[in-house]
Amino acid sequence: MAELLKGVPAAAKITEELSSRCEKLKARGIIPTLAMLRVGEKPGDLSYESGAEKRCAKIGITARKIILPSSASKDEILGHVHEINSDESIHGFLMFRPLDDKDTESSAREILSPSKDVDCMTDESLAGVFTGSGTGYPPCTAQACIELLDFYGIDVAGKNIAVIGRSLVIGRPVSMLLMNRNATVTICHSRTQNLPSICHNADIIIAAIGRPKFVGENFVSSGQTVIDVGINVDENGKLCGDVDFDSVSEIVRAVSPVPGGVGALTTAVLAKHVIESAEKLLK
Ligand code: NAP
Repeated sequence: MAELLKGVPAAAKITEELSSRCEKLKARGIIPTLAMLRVGEKPGDLSYESGAEKRCAKIGITARKIILPSSASKDEILGHVHEINSDESIHGFLMFRPLDDKDTESSAREILSPSKDVDCMTDESLAGVFTGSGTGYPPCTAQACIELLDFYGIDVAGKNIAVIGRSLVIGRPVSMLLMNRNATVTICHSRTQNLPSICHNADIIIAAIGRPKFVGENFVSSGQTVIDVGINVDENGKLCGDVDFDSVSEIVRAVSPVPGGVGALTTAVLAKHVIESAEKLLK
């Protein structure tokens, strides 16, 4: 049975570190604050919002919620983003995505101040991830993969890594973060030929596909580390990842579970970005 790369202990460690940084900020008169904007009542958004609220409370970050009906107009949504930009007491902003209206989402991305962009909505933040300049914050889930590898002491330098998925929220940014750490990355997608063979020959596989149990035993080999980013529901209505955990965990060296892997770390990374943004005021 493979080693389980659980997210909870990694999240607990980050939470503890952030709590003391948060106290120091408060002692200097800065109350780290995250604003979250939710449009509608999608179950995934509600669950992430509740997780983020709990994480902020543990650390001492103030979480403000802006909740709009799914009928909210573009002007109304963008009005809130403008207000957040000019509110100096807010250090980070999270808008639950995707919005149903792509045009509104894209306008919100354009107008958000990059300094408050703690989940990589803006092109400026993405550019920072791609250039490796260190400016801006990577998407929380992509960064959570890196935090998980770090927590378990898995060095990626020189390793062959197959990333399955090329979305702007996970696949591409996580590939850049890994390459910035000197990994050799193969970015795979739905048109990739010989995907099982590419994965079989990698040292590490990152699965960010959105297909239940897609990565099966024919994709993996002994000695590998597998990070499962997927959040899906299987044929029995049970939460599962993109990796067929039961068969893969019998073969590889280490694998992250779903639930309790990458997903358990995402709100800790979000909180980390809020604290870092607030700390910039001290410089
Ligand atoms: P996405 O935007 O739908 O992207 C999926 C990617 O997978 C695409 O690049 C797609 O390729 C690729 N793909 C689809 N079918 C494939 C196939 N048969 N073979 C190879 N590649 C294939 O999804 P996403 O937003 O990146 O999310 C990926 C997964 O992560 C989902 O399960 C999502 O629920 C989960 N997620 C988890 C967290 C967390 O906190 N753990 C956060 C966000 C999302 P093409 O580009 O060619 O279409």
